[in-house]
Amino acid sequence: MGMRRVQKTIENRIECNGVGLHTGKEVLLSLNPLPPDSGIWFRRVDLPHKPYIKATANHVTQTSLCTVIGNNGSGVSTVEHLMSALAGMGIHNILVEIDAPEVPIFDGSAQHFVELLQEAGIKNQKVSSEVFALDKKFSISQEDKKITYYPNKELIVSFTIDFDHPLMKEQEYTFRFSEDNFVDEISRARTFGFLRDVEAMKKCGYARGGSLENAVVIDENGILNPEGLRYPNEFVRHKILDFLGDLYLYGMPVRGHFVVYKSGHTLNNLFIKALKNGKEEKDAHSDFQEASLSMSVNQRAFTILPA
Ligand SMILES: [Zn+2]
Repeated sequence: MGMRRVQKTIENRIECNGVGLHTGKEVLLSLNPLPPDSGIWFRRVDLPHKPYIKATANHVTQTSLCTVIGNNGSGVSTVEHLMSALAGMGIHNILVEIDAPEVPIFDGSAQHFVELLQEAGIKNQKVSSEVFALDKKFSISQEDKKITYYPNKELIVSFTIDFDHPLMKEQEYTFRFSEDNFVDEISRARTFGFLRDVEAMKKCGYARGGSLENAVVIDENGILNPEGLRYPNEFVRHKILDFLGDLYLYGMPVRGHFVVYKSGHTLNNLFIKALKNGKEEKDAHSDFQEASLSMSVNQRAFTILPA
């Protein structure tokens, strides 16, 4: 269904070190080329048998603070900024090897991943990829959050955030996808958090690697980072960065206009699962995932609106 696009991978293996946001652990990450039609794979090289995990929405196991994918007990967390860089640079086939349970956070944006991909060299694979598109409007909501899909020839994301804070009231941004636009408008937008939440997360054992080096931190009086913001509307741009990363877990490029109101990883994932509905190949693992998804759907009063 939809248009086709040429598949890409990287020319050469590349590796780097970083720190996990939640674990605070040092991580060695490498990016490796894969042949056409492979898709995006993660591999935990620190575990026995070095298990592989395919980056698809059906392997998402947790969405509370970040997006976690997993398979039979092994998982990789905080995949969304790397997934966003892969979506933004049009990479279809790649193997990400890491020696820890979490993708490094770097500066809290996708900039470092973009630079790694550029340094590795982007390789055109001369094989086309399908691009997913629907021919009708489709929407999903959860509490006051909503995502609406409109058929469109290009990928456009119009995102609105509305936090109870003077710096983050009603911020709206429309992003028209191209690789250059991604690099210029989205890739450098950093993750953000309220100081009280960061402190609470640290008490619960999360955000151990969190600092002003890898997030914009806000309190009642303003932004704590001495360098300030990279864009006046950096917050909504980062939400688009996250959305593109979560959307790429569809498993192929997606076309359409997405109008998004206050969504986060949880609703993003439910939306992608709903888009994929009935399209995923069945295996024991995805059946288990389906069951746990429908449970959480009921608990959260999730609704697919008639389009
Ligand atoms: Zn993020």
